[in-house]
Amino acid sequence: MSDAGARHGGTAAAGSSGIVIGRVQKLAGGDLPVSERYIHADKVEDEVARFVQAVAESVADFDSERLHLLELESQDPLHILDAQRMLLLDPDLSRKVMESIRNQRINADWAVHQQVTAIARIFDNISDEYLRARKSDIEHVGQRILRHLAGCEDQKLLVEAKERLIVAGEDFTPVEVIRLWRQGVAGFVAEKGGPNAHSIIIARGLGMPALMGAEGVLEQLNDGDRLIVDGEQGVWRVNPSFVHEREYLIMARNADAEQRSLSMFADCASLSNDGHALKLMANLEVEDELPQAVRLGVEGVGLYRSEFLLTDADCLPDEEAQYQLYARVMQSMIGLPVTFRLMDIGGEKSLLYEHIIGHRAMTDNPALGLRGVRLLLQNKVVLRDQLRALLRASQHGDLRILVPMVSRVEEMSVVREQLEICAEGLLIENLPKLGAMIEVPAAVIIADQLAEVCDFFSIGTNDLIQYTLAADRADEEVAYLYDTTHPALEPMLRQTAQAARTAGIEVNMCGELAADLCWTERLMNMGFDTLSMSLQHILPVRKHLASLHYHPDS
Ligand code: PEP
Ligand code: MG
Repeated sequence: MSDAGARHGGTAAAGSSGIVIGRVQKLAGGDLPVSERYIHADKVEDEVARFVQAVAESVADFDSERLHLLELESQDPLHILDAQRMLLLDPDLSRKVMESIRNQRINADWAVHQQVTAIARIFDNISDEYLRARKSDIEHVGQRILRHLAGCEDQKLLVEAKERLIVAGEDFTPVEVIRLWRQGVAGFVAEKGGPNAHSIIIARGLGMPALMGAEGVLEQLNDGDRLIVDGEQGVWRVNPSFVHEREYLIMARNADAEQRSLSMFADCASLSNDGHALKLMANLEVEDELPQAVRLGVEGVGLYRSEFLLTDADCLPDEEAQYQLYARVMQSMIGLPVTFRLMDIGGEKSLLYEHIIGHRAMTDNPALGLRGVRLLLQNKVVLRDQLRALLRASQHGDLRILVPMVSRVEEMSVVREQLEICAEGLLIENLPKLGAMIEVPAAVIIADQLAEVCDFFSIGTNDLIQYTLAADRADEEVAYLYDTTHPALEPMLRQTAQAARTAGIEVNMCGELAADLCWTERLMNMGFDTLSMSLQHILPVRKHLASLHYHPDS
C-alpha cells in the first residue's frame, strides 16, 4: 500500500491485531512527577495511613475492572489483572515502603517511588527477555498507587462519541487499558512497551487494536489528528491522505466482517450444508492450548504430540509425571475423545533423541532412521512407561493411542501386545483404541492388512508427502516438489480410506492437509471421519464445511 499523503508514521515494537481509524487524543499516561518531601515525626503515621489507603483504593480499582472481564472469551486479561493485584498486595513491598516512611521520614509517594524503582532495577539485569519485560508490571503497580496518593483522577476523554477515539500516551497500565476499552476507546498507541508487555497482551484479549513501543509517536501527534492504527502490521499513520485512508477502511471492514463471520462458527457442530457430520479436532502440543480448544468447540483432540513433553525436560518424564499431564488433558476435554500419539522421536525431531538414546542421532539420514515406533520398540521401558501412564489416564474418558511411523504390521502387533501386558498389570480391562499413523507409502500399500490390527487410522500427510515425493519437508530447496497437488497423493488417500471403510474402522487425518480448504470436500466424500488441525484453522474449515454438500464416493 502506498504511503503518500500520510504526514507521519512509524513501526511499533508490538501490536494487538486489528485496524482502527479515528481521531486521536493524547493522554498523560506513564510516570507521574513524584513529590518528594521530608515529614515531621508526628506526621509519620499519617503518611503510613495514606499509603495503606492508596493501596486499598488501587485494589478496589482492580476488583471493579475484574468484573467486566468475566464474560470475555480470552481469560488472559483476567489472569494478568489477578497477578498484578497480587503484586499490589505483596507484604514485602508494603513493609519496605512503611519502613522507608518511618526510618527516613519521607512522604508516602517518595517511599513508593524509591521501592518500586529499586525492584524494577533488578529486572534490568535479567537476560531472559520475557522475564525482563515483567519490570513493567511492578512499575504499573507503582503508578497505580502513586495516582491515588496524588489524588489524580483518570483523564477525561475529550473527543466526541460519534468519532472513533484512539488514545496515545507514553505508557498504559493493564487497568488503564481495560478502562479505556470499557469507555469505548477503539484503540491505543503507547511509546513504551514490547511484545511481552502485559498491557498489549490484555489488548489482544480484549480484541482492541493497539501498538506499543511506538517510539516518537507522541511528537508526531496533536489532539484531533486522524490516525490509522494497524495492529496486524504493527504500523501507524498520522493524517493519511483520503485515498490511503479509504484503502485502510476497506481492509478494516473486510477483516472485521471475516472475524465476525468466523466467530459465529465457534462452539457449533461441524456439519456440511446438508447435515453430514465431519468432526473437526485439535492438533495440540502443549496444555496451554486446551482452553482455546474448548472455546472453539472442537470435537476432540485428534493428535496430541506427546513428544513435546520432552522439550522443556532434562530427562524423560516418568510414568507418574506423564499420567498427571494426560489426566489433566482428559479432564479439560470433558468427555470428548483425546488421541495421544506415542512419542514420535527422531527424524526432524532429532534433538529429542538425546533424551532416550543419550547421544545425538548418528545417522546421516534421520528421516529414514530409528524414529517413531522403531525407536520405541528398541526402548521398551520408555514405551511401557508411556503406555501405563496412558492406560491410567484412559480411566478419565475416551482416550485413544496413536502409533507414529508405522511401516509393518508387526510393529502394531507388538505395541498392542505391550499395551495388553501393561493393562493386565494395572488390572484394566477395557483397552483404549489403538491406531496407526499412515505416514509412509508402505503403510498405505498394506492398509488393508494394517486395518486388521488397528482400531483406527490417522493419515499424517506431512510425512506421507515427504516420503512419497522424496522431498524433505523442511528443505527450502525442494519445497517446490513438496506439492499437495501432486497426482500421486490423492490415490493414496483414497486407498487408505477405502481400506478403513472395508474393515469398519475410523479414518482420520491429522497432517496439515486436513486444514487445506481445497481438500475439505474431497476428504469428506472419501469418507473421512475426522480432520484434525491446529487451532487457528478450526473456524475457517468449519465455515467452509457448512457451504459444502456431501456426495459420498461409491
Ligand atoms: C504428519 O506427519 O502429518 C504428522 C501429523 O505428524 P508430524 O507433523 O508431527 O510429523
Ligand atoms: Mg509425522
